[in-house]
Parts: sequence; structure tokens; C-alpha cells
Amino acid sequence: PPQLTGDFGTLMEWVDRFRKLKVRTNADTPNDSRVAREFGAEGIGLCRTEHMFFEADRIAAVREMILAEDVEGRKKALAKILPMQKGDFVGIFREMKGLPVTIRLLDPPLHEFLPHEDKDIDALAKTMGVTPQSLRAKVDYLHEFNPMLGHRGCRLGLTFPEIYDMQVQAIMEAACELTKNEGFSIVPEIMIPLVGVVTELARLRENTVRVCEEVVAAYGVKVEYLIGTMIELPRAALTADEIAREAEFFSFGTNDLTQTTFGLSRDDAGKFLPFYVETGLLEDDPFVSLDQNGVGLLVKMAVEKGRATRPGIKLGICGEHGGDPSSVIFCHQIGLDYVSCSPFRVPIARLAAAHAALEEGK
Ligand code: PEP
Ligand code: MG
Repeated sequence: PPQLTGDFGTLMEWVDRFRKLKVRTNADTPNDSRVAREFGAEGIGLCRTEHMFFEADRIAAVREMILAEDVEGRKKALAKILPMQKGDFVGIFREMKGLPVTIRLLDPPLHEFLPHEDKDIDALAKTMGVTPQSLRAKVDYLHEFNPMLGHRGCRLGLTFPEIYDMQVQAIMEAACELTKNEGFSIVPEIMIPLVGVVTELARLRENTVRVCEEVVAAYGVKVEYLIGTMIELPRAALTADEIAREAEFFSFGTNDLTQTTFGLSRDDAGKFLPFYVETGLLEDDPFVSLDQNGVGLLVKMAVEKGRATRPGIKLGICGEHGGDPSSVIFCHQIGLDYVSCSPFRVPIARLAAAHAALEEGK
């Protein structure tokens, strides 16, 4: 495992004396969490849960859940996933030893979960006791032309509330168990993705609180939790004062916010963006270095609006920009509390945060 020793370790000690921004990591496995902690991460700013659903031993149950006929069918499939999901969070909480952990509820493009091959559809139809034809029809119905602008993020959590309920139950059971049996002190930060309208967050917050309180009561331990949201759509940034009524924290998802502000697909931009940068139409790739004139303005506006409604609101960034030096400096300047980046970029983010603080003091 990486260790920050020798001159590198000394440099990191120095930078930590100056920086004001906290540096967290994006991690969704115990191993990544450990690596990041060894690089100095002060928590997890984004634990994505999508990959967990693709694990070989649960993708069949996930498909069954999405394609179930009714709520009962979905709940039956989710009951199979719950113990595994709880294990995911126990592993991550243990590695982070009480540091803050923000877990984002499921945000997949739905089509990635759907079975397409005949053999997968046949097998699933057998498990579910339906005909392959009816299952194929359901898969076709769920097909989307623009999945990244479609049935993802909190939209999925609203139309299939059982999924988020299961995840919240798993998060809180993991936290309660570690608190009760291993003396941990964990305050899970539960994050709702892709909110555009405050009513989405209000409804999901209500569900989340209900499940959290049920679990806490069942365990008979005192475990607190925070509920917050990603700000990754222009509408969310523009209405951040309303959204802050329902959120104890914001995390800026600048990957999606760049995509939606520019109207530029993050998955296809590579085809012509290099031309733009080479010929000077754009100074930098906005997916790498935060576009301070456009996307940055939305972030800055949301910071001000969020703090106006809720002065103590916690503010961070968890898009790829959280590990890019010039973007980290911008995050310091607009007063975020933390940046979150992939484990191997944590030292760079710590250094950039110190540069920003020193620059300011000049
Ligand atoms: C983002 O959109 O910036 C983000 C962090 O979420 P994801 O990359 O998972 O969409
Ligand atoms: Mg996103």
C-alpha cells in the first residue's frame, strides 16, 4: 500500500499546515478507501453505489427488481440484495474509522442494468415465473434514447422508492451495528443525486427520514445522519436557496453540471473537444478543468444561495474537478468546505489547497 514517507511525507505535512479546504476522496470499495486514507483523505465525499449493483452475485436480483411486475416483486428481489449492500457499507465505514462518509443513493443510467441477450432474458423469465416474451416487452418499454437525460438519479428513486429505502436501511443498519458492537461514531451522509426541483428532494427526504428512524429505533442506539443532495443540474444551482431548505449539505457534481451547462455529452465529447482546445475555441477541456466563467458561476451562485437559506450548510465538490489543481484553487476562493477526488489525486488536491491559501495570504 502507498505510504507518504520521506520528503513526500514532509511536504504533505507542510501543506496541511496552510490549507483550509478539507480533502476527501471518491471511493466505493474498502480497498480504495484505505488507499485514500493513506494518501491523507479526510473522509469520503462520494461513495457511488452503482458498481455494487453489478457484482456477479447480485446483478440477477437487480434485474429482477427492475423488471418486477409490482411492488411486491420488487421488494422480494431487494430483500436478496439488502444483506450484501449492508456488507458494502460495513466494509467502507470500518476502513474510514469514523471519518465522514457521503453515500450517494443509486444513480445509474437504467439501461445498463437491463438484460439484452436472449439467454439472460430466458433465465430471468424462469426465475420470475413469466414468459420470455413478456420480459422482452418490458425491457423494450424501458429502453431510452438518451439515458443520461432520462430515468436516472432521484427520478429512479421516486418511481421505484423501494430501491432507495433498501439502500438507506443498509446504510443505517451498518452504522447502527458498528456503533453498537464496535464503538464507532459514524454520522452517515446520505446523498440524493440529480435533483432538479426541490419537491423531488422533499419527498425523498421524507422517505429517508422514515427509514432512518425505523432502523435507529430497532437497534436502540443513537446514530445521527445527514441528508443532502448533489447539485449537478443548472436548475438545481439556480434554485439552490429552495433546495437548501431540504438539504444539510450540497456536493457539486461538476461532471454532470458541465455536461448539462454546455449541452455537451460527457461520453462523446472526446470526438471533437480536442479540436476545440487545439484551435483555441476553448482554453481547456471543461471536463478536466472547471469552466470558471460558466459552470463556475453556477457553482458560486449555488454556494451563495445555499448559505443564505442555511448558513451552516456543508459544501463540497465531487466531480473530477475536485482533483484538478486550478479547479481546487477556485473551490477555495468560492469558500467550499472540501473537495473530493479519486484516491491517487488526494496529495495533489492537498498541495493545490495549500497554494490557494498561501496565494490569498499574500
Ligand atoms: C458528477 O456528475 O460530477 C458526479 C460526481 O457524479 P457522476 O460522475 O457519478 O455522475
Ligand atoms: Mg453525476
